[in-house]
Amino acid sequence: MSREALVFYSPVDDATAWREALTAELPDLDFRVDPEVGDPSDIRYALVWVPPRGFFARFPNLQLVTNLGAGVDALLGRDDLVPVKFSRLNDPGMTAMMTSYVVFAVTRYARDIPVFERAKRRGEWEYVHPRPLADIKVAVLGLGELGAPAARALAGMGYTVTGWSRSPKEIAGVASETGRAGLERVLADNEIIVSLLPLTPDLRGILGAREFALMPKGAKFINASRGAVVDEAALIAALRTGHVAEATLDVFETEPLPPDHPFWTLDNVLITPHLASITVPKLAARDVAQSIRRMRQGLAPLHQVDPARGY
Ligand code: NDP
Repeated sequence: MSREALVFYSPVDDATAWREALTAELPDLDFRVDPEVGDPSDIRYALVWVPPRGFFARFPNLQLVTNLGAGVDALLGRDDLVPVKFSRLNDPGMTAMMTSYVVFAVTRYARDIPVFERAKRRGEWEYVHPRPLADIKVAVLGLGELGAPAARALAGMGYTVTGWSRSPKEIAGVASETGRAGLERVLADNEIIVSLLPLTPDLRGILGAREFALMPKGAKFINASRGAVVDEAALIAALRTGHVAEATLDVFETEPLPPDHPFWTLDNVLITPHLASITVPKLAARDVAQSIRRMRQGLAPLHQVDPARGY
């Protein structure tokens, strides 16, 4: 009789930490790290980050693929998927870390910190009168697992917050917009725009020249989602004219950002190397284990994603 095993594959995640975290939750789980998979027919679950082409077809009894991260674009965009269930990570540590990044980046602009960073470099005492946070309008594009808590936190701090998502949302203190017309209103009405959108076929390049032009002059843009939701050439042009006054970018079309990329030369861009939020195996393992328990009972996994929808 074949056994029930999980295969782990990731060039970047710590297999030992994941083995410890998952087997603490599920002591009976047979955790195998590729390429030491034993009999491929034992494999029911895969916990992976960008496995090589053809990986999934090796396992005839595979039932669930869990992406080792929240963003599933690299997984769902593949053309070698097999008809199984797909899920993503989602843990409170990751959410808290993303909220902290967004709050930091928004507050840096709301409190005019880049002005003081530049003044300090010139050795000048430059006073800018602070504005009440309620006067500062912030948009969060994408109100999912990471976007909704970030929007809620910003609203809780007193910012005037509007969110944009596919379906309408009821989040305390956060106005909800949907659809193309909603996006255009959101871009035109808000001074600080945060992207927490997934990279789906619909949303690739959603923020281009037209969208940056819709933003009010002097807008600030924060991208902690995926680089390719933005047309980078259009953003660079808007940053050069100052129409978009500042940007904080954690994600890029090409990562690491190439040394000759124009973003490096723009004084009004803060670059962080894709670390707005990371996964802590110990915290994330709880839901991965719960998904496996649910699959054993014939239920859907937690945090299931839909290949057709792209997120
Ligand atoms: P989710 O999949 O949970 O949420 C996606 C949100 O986008 C939902 O609110 C969804 O709307 C909305 N959306 C999807 N399609 C559309 C559309 N066509 N029009 C309008 N809204 C749409 O994503 P997460 O919150 O987990 O992740 C957000 C982003 O953060 C992803 O890009 C992910 O890759 C990235 N990320 C970045 C990290 C970093 O370190 N920089 C770390 C982790 C994630 P609805 O709610 O109606 O379905």
